[in-house]
Amino acid sequence: MKISACSRTNGPITATVSNWRLGSFRQWLATTMTATAMLLGGCAGIASLPANRLLVENALVFPMDPARPAPFIGYLLVASDGTIARVGEGRPAADLRAARRIDAQGQWLLPGFVSAHSHLWQSDFAGIASDQNLEGWMAQLYGKVTPGLDAAQLYRLTRLGAEHHLLNGITTAFNFTVTGGDKTGRVDRCQLLAATHSGMRVLHGFNVRKIDAQWTPEDAKERLRAFLQWAGEQRGSGRYLGTVIAGAGMYYDDPAQTRTEAGLMQAFGLDNQQHYLEAPGLVSAERARYRWLKEFGVVGPKLVYGHFVHPTPDMVFEAAQAGAGMSWNPLSNGRLGSGTPDIPAYRAQGLRIGMGVDGEASADRADPFENMRAGLYQIRANRQSASVLSAFDVLRMHTLGSAEVLGVDGVVGSLAEGKKADFLLVDAKGFQPYKDPYAALVFAAGVENINGVFVDGEQVAAQRRLAGVAATPDAAPCDAGKQP
Ligand SMILES: [Zn+2]
Repeated sequence: MKISACSRTNGPITATVSNWRLGSFRQWLATTMTATAMLLGGCAGIASLPANRLLVENALVFPMDPARPAPFIGYLLVASDGTIARVGEGRPAADLRAARRIDAQGQWLLPGFVSAHSHLWQSDFAGIASDQNLEGWMAQLYGKVTPGLDAAQLYRLTRLGAEHHLLNGITTAFNFTVTGGDKTGRVDRCQLLAATHSGMRVLHGFNVRKIDAQWTPEDAKERLRAFLQWAGEQRGSGRYLGTVIAGAGMYYDDPAQTRTEAGLMQAFGLDNQQHYLEAPGLVSAERARYRWLKEFGVVGPKLVYGHFVHPTPDMVFEAAQAGAGMSWNPLSNGRLGSGTPDIPAYRAQGLRIGMGVDGEASADRADPFENMRAGLYQIRANRQSASVLSAFDVLRMHTLGSAEVLGVDGVVGSLAEGKKADFLLVDAKGFQPYKDPYAALVFAAGVENINGVFVDGEQVAAQRRLAGVAATPDAAPCDAGKQP
């Protein structure tokens, strides 16, 4: 008789018995040890080695891994630490064990979406300024609504926005925060906590605030230094992926804003996502400010343009050459009448492109499926060509492409061994593919087809409802008078 100990991929117990007379002993042993393993939380209790967290099998797997372009029927094994231990074709080995097992027959398994550009706090403002371009829309939202929001309200709004993202299959987002009148850093801390408490992963977009006589570059630097020190202590959950400058310099006539943001990038080694060339009415003024981006050394691999609807060909060329990226936000660009960036031309130049759902005040559903369709169909209609951009292209841009632009493709964005086990299970009963599964998924699927959302291999949403960590009651750490 041989009893092998647990291993990382074998799970709680493997017992083989060569002598038939030991059959009853084997049965007793297997029953006893399995029960013990369950009582002790899996393999760890017996052999001090962790059990696998989850095994999903019989799914149609879309790895979005450059090494594996074609979907296949297979399985995903999640290790005890929440990373992907294996993505395999066909059936898993018979002796693979995991604390939880899901038979995903008839379901499609894809990486969690990544939104390269979100404003989570805008969750309560769907439908606002419904007939306004960006300028009129900003006058309502930022002119009338934002100044009245305190830290507790921003916590609640951000948390709600993050929950909408998760329910709709977005497991990682870049979050542009707002600061309002706060100079203490409390609203920054509350917005990061709200996002991570939801269970999603987030890159925190740090809003510098308008530089003027009352808010100097030194004030901004000190607030950022203190925030980074505090935020570094939040990494333990794995939900906080880092801080990026939420650049706004191109909105201002005075170069002080862009100069300050560039200085903070250099001082702290941070990336910068800069809203740029979104609204047609602001094109000439914003193009004239481009020289500041170059003069202050911003155009480089640490720059991500947000929107980038109306650049000159030279700007696209220089961005691509410098290794900069962009976030494409088609739902918002369509709703606000901003225009359609010439994505095929940008791709031909080699520009790195991710996709974002923007805020729910301008793209009123944080819905990656609608976002992919809106973008793909705008491009095809404008170019009068159905072959100019593919279903695969937009799915890639909203997963691995966004992760690349944000610099987190080593962690999320595709299903590959060692990455975080962030993924969706989609019920595919309504849209069996005709030849191309990517086309069926991108053209026909919607958030209503999402059966489950997983972060670290833990289920955060099931059947369109929050579960697990995402369902944890709001601890309201940002009420008046409370820390942080
Ligand atoms: Zn935005």
